[in-house]
Amino acid sequence: MKTHRQGVFAVADVLPRRLLGHNTGNPLEMTRFSAWSVFRNGLSGQSGWTRQWRDPEPKKQYDIVIVGGGLHGLATAYYLAKNHGLKNIAILEKGWLGGGNAGRNTTIVRSNYFMPGNRQFYEHSLELWENLSHELNYNVMFSQRSHIALLHSPGAIDGAARRYNTMRLTGTPDAEIWDLEKLKQNVPHLNYGPDSRFPILGAAVQKRAGTARHDAVAWGYARAADALGVDIIQNCEVTSTSRSGNSITSLTTSRGEISAKKVGFAVAGNTSRLWQMAGFNTLPIESHKLQAFVSEPLKPLLDQVVVFGVGGAHFYISQSDKGGMVFGGDLDWYKSYAQRGNLPIVQDVAECAVSILPCLGRVRLLRHWSGVMDMSMDGSPFICKTPLDNLYLNAGWNYGGFKASPASGWYFADLIANDRPHETIANFNLDRFAQGVSLDERGAGPDPKLHG
Ligand SMILES: Cc1cc2nc3c(=O)[nH]c(=O)nc-3n(C[C@H](O)[C@H](O)[C@H](O)COP(=O)(O)OP(=O)(O)OC[C@H]3O[C@@H](n4cnc5c(N)ncnc54)[C@H](O)[C@@H]3O)c2cc1C
Repeated sequence: MKTHRQGVFAVADVLPRRLLGHNTGNPLEMTRFSAWSVFRNGLSGQSGWTRQWRDPEPKKQYDIVIVGGGLHGLATAYYLAKNHGLKNIAILEKGWLGGGNAGRNTTIVRSNYFMPGNRQFYEHSLELWENLSHELNYNVMFSQRSHIALLHSPGAIDGAARRYNTMRLTGTPDAEIWDLEKLKQNVPHLNYGPDSRFPILGAAVQKRAGTARHDAVAWGYARAADALGVDIIQNCEVTSTSRSGNSITSLTTSRGEISAKKVGFAVAGNTSRLWQMAGFNTLPIESHKLQAFVSEPLKPLLDQVVVFGVGGAHFYISQSDKGGMVFGGDLDWYKSYAQRGNLPIVQDVAECAVSILPCLGRVRLLRHWSGVMDMSMDGSPFICKTPLDNLYLNAGWNYGGFKASPASGWYFADLIANDRPHETIANFNLDRFAQGVSLDERGAGPDPKLHG
């Protein structure tokens, strides 16, 4: 007997596969998502979806190899293929896509930067975020819910006014300073009481800022890069490099020897290890741990990203689509490659949470984890050439590399393709300390621990 579902299949099967939202059998063709394809696959028992990217065997030779399948590596490969039309590109990832910091961060996206270079770079990144779901045909769940930095002293208000006025004057129109009344109307649950530990006077607000779904961003870039011919090789750890003259000729990996004409490192907290494999000793980077926390799910409580940093405390919080409160604080204060955190920071962050949002006092913590930060000496990144002719470096993202990932990929691809830095990233180089042009956004001095 013919079932209803079989009947639907019969109708669907006479339509062209492309019209139905399926790919046509070409391994490089990306499944297009649309309302129609979701509807159609609902009718066919979700049986029409194909895998989102290939799982190719590594080739012996590539024109460009990017080491690191985090957000920066994936975005770089995508823009190399899309913006520069380059082919024969591979990403080598030692684990699985998004298993590093890409899948461990608290997903805050903003562009409230002050220093020349940083300002243009992060604003460009935010503009790329604003169209990313459409560009990748993948919902990265970018939610422009406002970033609200609490202000606790007249000096802090003056400092924020200077920064946010500069932003408005240089192309970031959504920078605002809110007084206490406006803040109370918009974020009613904060600790405004007279005996609060950190009395609040107002806030600096960026309305286009917000959050995105981190693993969706990794998957979106992966499928779009794959569709442009990029080989994404997972479980492929780079263990050493071979050099001839002033160039890297090949990489030894856990899946064999791979030669490359150009090599880009985008390995975040592991940069120093790769740097040693390339034959160098020192880098202006320390690897530190940063923890993140999520609570049990709650009903809607907080509609924005709220941040504060005062009197040695540092804390940021938002609410996920599933209702969990997602929050974090400072680094763990000691250097390590371990992807787990220590208990004193758990206590520190919990104290911050209840001092600013006392209603969280009885909420249970669901999970906490950590990632390895590549903390630079001045808190700003590196997208630059290296002493080797064909090696390019993308590193030093500190706490802030999630928001940067689209622009980081865009400018790193531009650097690798053209073999010269774009003017926006002219100071994102390793020489800037020797040249006396450090990009110390926080004014915290040459100590990586202080650039949170
Ligand atoms: C707890 C936490 C909270 C954060 N919150 C925010 C935030 O709210 N907003 C923000 O903007 N940023 C935030 N960040 C920072 C952000 O996550 C990182 O700066 C960014 O993800 C780093 O770039 P990536 O995604 O490319 O790194 P990763 O995802 O770490 O990618 C590097 C990849 O390189 C691979 N790799 C390493 N060594 C090798 C090797 N030898 N061979 C092959 N592959 C290798 C790793 O496995 C890894 O997958 C946070 C980070 C953490 C840990």
